[in-house]
Amino acid sequence: MEIKITKTTNPKTKPSADTKLGFGNYYTDHMFIMNYDEGQGWHDARIVPYGPIALDPAAMCLHYGQEVFEGLKAYKTEDGSIQLFRPEKNMARLNVSNERLCIPLIDEAFCVEAIKKLVEVDQDWIPAEEGTSLYIRPFIIAADAHVGVHPAKHYLFIVILSPVGAYYPQGLNPVDIYVEQKYVRAVKGGMGFTKTAGNYAASLKAQDDAEKIGYTQVLWLDGVERKYIEEVGTMNVFFVIGDEVVTPELSGSILSGITRMSVIELLRHKGYKVTERKLSIDELYEAHDNGTLKEAFGTGTAAVISPIGTFEWNGRKITVADGGIGEISQMLYDTITGIQSGKIKDEFNWTQKI
Ligand SMILES: *Cc1c(COP(=O)(O)O)cnc(C)c1O
Repeated sequence: MEIKITKTTNPKTKPSADTKLGFGNYYTDHMFIMNYDEGQGWHDARIVPYGPIALDPAAMCLHYGQEVFEGLKAYKTEDGSIQLFRPEKNMARLNVSNERLCIPLIDEAFCVEAIKKLVEVDQDWIPAEEGTSLYIRPFIIAADAHVGVHPAKHYLFIVILSPVGAYYPQGLNPVDIYVEQKYVRAVKGGMGFTKTAGNYAASLKAQDDAEKIGYTQVLWLDGVERKYIEEVGTMNVFFVIGDEVVTPELSGSILSGITRMSVIELLRHKGYKVTERKLSIDELYEAHDNGTLKEAFGTGTAAVISPIGTFEWNGRKITVADGGIGEISQMLYDTITGIQSGKIKDEFNWTQKI
């Protein structure tokens, strides 16, 4: 499919190099759109000036949440080239989400090309300062004007871009975690393994309550027994217990993170013992009590590695080792961000140049 490009005649002023970009505050000059109509498939791939989209108030995505999304980043390397981190994995995962939400599948290779083209058009928006990047948000919405509960026949696939600041402007910083007992994020058979808006809506209340009592994120336990550890906020979670690195197995209610996958591959490559298995909250507290809990950290595209300093569960607060940044956490952060920014040679073939 050909991509038609219409450039803006009215470019925006880009944030200056000393602007605090934060996350999701600025959007570039262009966006990618294509339409899906039943019988016709995906069509009319185009790059157009960034701006509001017209939706009928009866558009199905607004009523029943038929929506999926992805999140990845483009990085400017020191030699000025631009690269993406494992974009083919994001498009493969988008199709996993599509399948669960009855959304028509996309052509993964074509969508990677579309993303590359869009990033190329808006390449002057990619910030170059240490730790910054261009966040890429592809998403699909059901667009039929029909308030009725069934899969839609018309969809929009859209990609928008946002220059984002360093997640840790002052270097890695351990976070305090509240172990959630009242609310659950997802259950097996539900949509927990997909990236869809509803999962985030379901998580807001717990996150809001945790913030009010001074915690950064919640640790989600499984929805049935309220016992097994699943994820931390919107990140996957890892623990170093003795000489084993443990992460919850993908049970159906856990999102299969690309950072998670990369961390597992990198650790195994370096000779660490990594186990994907069930890990209960009791086992975590026991490991703390017998002194074998050495590190805990979250993984995700936004922060890459997010060390965890403390947990509170059932009224009892524990500190992970000395509450600082663990050796493995720091090594993973340095290695993965190094590969992403081009400072470290990518021996895994994870990056793709534009
Ligand atoms: C996106 C996401 C992650 C992290 O996935 P990455 O591909 O590593 O960014 C983890 N958990 C949830 C719930 C997510 O939505």
